[in-house]
Amino acid sequence: MLQSKLPDVGTTIFTIMSRLAQEHQAINLGQGFPDFDPDPALCQLVSKAMAEGHNQYPYMTGVPPLRHAIAHKVRTLYGRTYDPDSEITVTSGATEALMAAVLACVGNGDEVVVIEPCYDSYLPAIRLAGGIPVTVPLRAPTQEDPSFRVDWQQVRDAITPRTRLIMMNFPHNPTGIILQDSDLDALENIVRDTGVLLLSDEPYEHIVFDGQHHRSVATRALLSDHAFVISSFGKTYHATGWKVGYCCAPKIMSAELRKIHQFIVFTVSSPMQFALAEYMRDPTPYLELSHFYQIRRDRLAQGLTGSRFKVLPSPGTFFLMADYREISDENEAEFSRWLTVTHGVTVIPVSAFYREPDAPQSNHQLVRFCFAKKESTLDAAIEKLQRV
Ligand code: PMP
Ligand code: GLN
Repeated sequence: MLQSKLPDVGTTIFTIMSRLAQEHQAINLGQGFPDFDPDPALCQLVSKAMAEGHNQYPYMTGVPPLRHAIAHKVRTLYGRTYDPDSEITVTSGATEALMAAVLACVGNGDEVVVIEPCYDSYLPAIRLAGGIPVTVPLRAPTQEDPSFRVDWQQVRDAITPRTRLIMMNFPHNPTGIILQDSDLDALENIVRDTGVLLLSDEPYEHIVFDGQHHRSVATRALLSDHAFVISSFGKTYHATGWKVGYCCAPKIMSAELRKIHQFIVFTVSSPMQFALAEYMRDPTPYLELSHFYQIRRDRLAQGLTGSRFKVLPSPGTFFLMADYREISDENEAEFSRWLTVTHGVTVIPVSAFYREPDAPQSNHQLVRFCFAKKESTLDAAIEKLQRV
């Protein structure tokens, strides 16, 4: 008989909630994807690449113009110089990069420290590699301090001689929190003292609000010497369905990641890569992305002000969390289902990002709204949410 390698894994919460939204014709502010198209100019570049004959297997590591464009962007924004030939790999979304990085460095019995809540693919990736996830929760919001926060002392305390990797994601899905200089300082101390490797998942790098900026792990030499820095074009260019991402890492780490990448997918759709490379010549779209999304964040946050949802600060990503304790004392999964069925708006329970979604410590009466939506979609949702 087939023995499952992931006995506890079912369908992802994003798929479940999107299906439920469809079934009830609800407005879907659940799964994180835009309900609008990428820039037509970018789509035309894909057609152009096809017409120019970029239709066969591209290089296993990604087409050179795209790897060079990524190197240029990362050097300009974060100061780290990656060699496009040996240190940058184009992947099938951030998801594949995450899986390949974990499989490349985690072995049987190795421990991996994961900051929780975390993206749903992290724990299965660790388990498939034979590793043991050690979760460190973000400190939950309180009345006095309404933000989730990383407790770096707790991260440090979780590290043992068996720890191979720390997995982190900032700007953070689902809480929206971002890193400050003091966070990178604390992380540097941990890496200096322990030599642990880092996986920094940064697909929301260009979505940071209120005049703040993203602090990539690639801004610090010590950190980037130890890190797989992963990102994705999905959020940056409103093209989550294209599934193109990348991983920057020192040569030895990239070499191991590539061994896995070449046998998971071998390579990534050629016309998409040529189009992205050409489109990246102009930095304006990603430099203006924060402004683009801040308008939508503020629209949703203001719209909810008149409701019984209490909005938490969201300094980054295209997600916003809201507290529903004035409405219900159900757990987050039950509340989210009820909201779709009864009020026609779909959200994601934040508890789904915890190892034990049903446990009381994973439930803070919070739901996640995705505001990567047309303003008309947000307005229609706000109208419904105000009636709750
Ligand atoms: N990491 C995080 C934190 C994400 O939110 C997502 C999905 N939005 C991914 C990775 C996966 O990105 P991709 O769609 O490029 O595979
Ligand atoms: N990253 C997206 C989110 O957090 C979902 C991606 C997926 O559906 N796998 O909503």
